[in-house]
Amino acid sequence: MIASNDLIAAIATAPGRGGVGVIRLSGQGLAGVVAGLVGRALQPRHAHFARFKAQDGAVIDEGLALYFPGPASFTGEDVLELQGHGGPVVLRMLLARCVELGARHAQPGEFTRRAFLNGKLDLAQAEAVADLIDAQSEAAARSALKSLDGAFSREINALTEQMITLRMLVEATIDFPEEDIDFLQAADARGKLAQIDEQLARVLATASQGRMLREGLHVVLIGQPNVGKSSLLNALAGTDVAIVTDIAGTTRDTVRELIQLDGVPLHVIDTAGLRETEDAVEKIGIARTWQALEKADLALLLLDSREGITAHDEAILQRLPAQLPVLRVFNKIDLTGEQSGAVDDYEVHVSAQTGAGLDTLRQRLLALAGWHGANEGVFIARERHLDAIRRAAGHVDSAAHAFNALELFAEELRLAQQALNEITGEFTSDDLLGVIFSRFCIGK
Ligand code: GDP
Ligand code: ZN
Repeated sequence: MIASNDLIAAIATAPGRGGVGVIRLSGQGLAGVVAGLVGRALQPRHAHFARFKAQDGAVIDEGLALYFPGPASFTGEDVLELQGHGGPVVLRMLLARCVELGARHAQPGEFTRRAFLNGKLDLAQAEAVADLIDAQSEAAARSALKSLDGAFSREINALTEQMITLRMLVEATIDFPEEDIDFLQAADARGKLAQIDEQLARVLATASQGRMLREGLHVVLIGQPNVGKSSLLNALAGTDVAIVTDIAGTTRDTVRELIQLDGVPLHVIDTAGLRETEDAVEKIGIARTWQALEKADLALLLLDSREGITAHDEAILQRLPAQLPVLRVFNKIDLTGEQSGAVDDYEVHVSAQTGAGLDTLRQRLLALAGWHGANEGVFIARERHLDAIRRAAGHVDSAAHAFNALELFAEELRLAQQALNEITGEFTSDDLLGVIFSRFCIGK
């Protein structure tokens, strides 16, 4: 891994117009840019008002210039931030001027990648930068910040430390056979391994919750017209976080909405459009909906209490993936006089109109979809992390069966440790880094 430190530049603020726009530069050769653009030296970490000059001396924009000398900067390199007016044209002119003065356009995620390569962040923290920017709910944002702050990495590092201690113990036993098995027994190697195993399970559970916060839960909504689907979604979203939006880019008749439930992003896929059709475009939309169902976490079958399950509902239920949990929701109990609440784990009676039974519904829905987390303490995580933890747990399990073959035991522990290290990125291939950072936005 070669950390190149040539000068890169990018517009760091979101495209479009805004009050302020920021251009960020990082790397070697900032002095030339400062001289050409500002015309005087900048005091580190001070906000300087400046007129940003073109080559012919004309003023491109005026604003603030901030200089952060490395290594005490985000990337660890010399960093310059130019705050100008947030218009796309003026920012492009300013960026072009930086390039004229020796910078090159940064690639997506290149600033954060440099921060990682220069040891300012580990890989899990760098990923949390992107996850914070992409957060779909407040809880997701909070947990991304937690990971950025190192909460996840600390758990992983603590586990790695324990593995190293145990490995040293075992390897000492291998190297000095006179310190035989009794020695390991005295050191409670078995107990230590069991502890590691338990802790791995705990981290895996938290990380799974963190992955749900990052990706959201996917819920399929089944129900006939007029049973109260829209009413229920609105009631569930609540007033404090009533984000009910159609997600752009979805095809006709594939309705997807994003709401938050107790801070968990919930993608709701409405199956109302799943009907027989000859329309080619509609067919594509329907095929996509069936695809989306494959990775759903839960199906919600909404029923009118006065009518129950219809043949059309049955037909859709039949075609759902077999392992997908289904929660039956009998709505409009205000019209039947039934009691609200849960009948069992898979059936609740509610009124979207009066709100009766909705708390129970929220609970059941989240629990069935796999969300157990109190939001506090959950750090954001990705499938990549879960996979690494699972592999580590597999090796620890193999180690537990290898107490009478110490070489094997030590090797399994080494592999477990290696798997965990992938999370924080101690030994990471350039390919993986490329994949991770290419998904960042430019300027981050
Ligand atoms: P959708 O077509 O499934 O989305 O159903 P809507 O949410 O549009 O509701 C259809 C009709 O049923 C509307 O007039 C709602 O006001 C009404 N409705 C929805 N939920 C309830 C409920 O719990 N009780 C009563 N009495 N009416 C409801
Ligand atoms: Zn509706």
